[in-house]
Amino acid sequence: MTYVASVILAVAAFMGALQWAHLRFDAWRIAPGDGHRQSNRYRNVLANGTVALGVYLVGIVVFGTHLVDPSRPSRWWAPFAVLLLYDFGYYWLHRGLHLPKLMRRIHWVHHRNLHPTAIDSLYLHPFETVAGLVVLLASVAIVGPMGLGAFVAVSLLHTVVNLLHHANLQLPFRLAWLPNHFAERHDIHHSRGGNYGVITPLWDWLFGTRG
Ligand SMILES: [Zn+2]
Ligand SMILES: [Zn+2]
Repeated sequence: MTYVASVILAVAAFMGALQWAHLRFDAWRIAPGDGHRQSNRYRNVLANGTVALGVYLVGIVVFGTHLVDPSRPSRWWAPFAVLLLYDFGYYWLHRGLHLPKLMRRIHWVHHRNLHPTAIDSLYLHPFETVAGLVVLLASVAIVGPMGLGAFVAVSLLHTVVNLLHHANLQLPFRLAWLPNHFAERHDIHHSRGGNYGVITPLWDWLFGTRG
């Protein structure tokens, strides 16, 4: 329980740090964030955070043996395989959410913000939270159950990448090229379209949706 609480606190602290950097350093912003316009912003974010924890809990309780196996010998490549598989699945889920019918019913909530910030990564219709995590957990199950450490690493990486996509920051450090790339591409997705993938640009390149 302490382990889970520490992971949640670390994620919340990272989200807070990104949000603080966006508010504090004008020169680092891609554009002024517009999430504050949503009167239900914090309620929605809190609800989706709770839903995400619920999906993890149900996933572990019901499908735990397909996700985690502490006795399995370590496979260093497994987390990478999961994230690549997830990237492919999420690309198509995201494109599906942009079909007019699903956009009108579900994805419009997330797209109310043209220039989201870290907090707005969780400003979603709850269906989208569930669907995204189902794709992630299904990717883990397909690659095969992994050690607890690897499972937590995959979950954390997925969360961190999602936060970086919405960070609305261009950090003036050479080493920050990847976070900067994520944030720039996803800001373009919200304001102009294209760029449906999250981990790699591979599927957007391949299917001609690079924005
Ligand atoms: Zn979208
Ligand atoms: Zn987004």
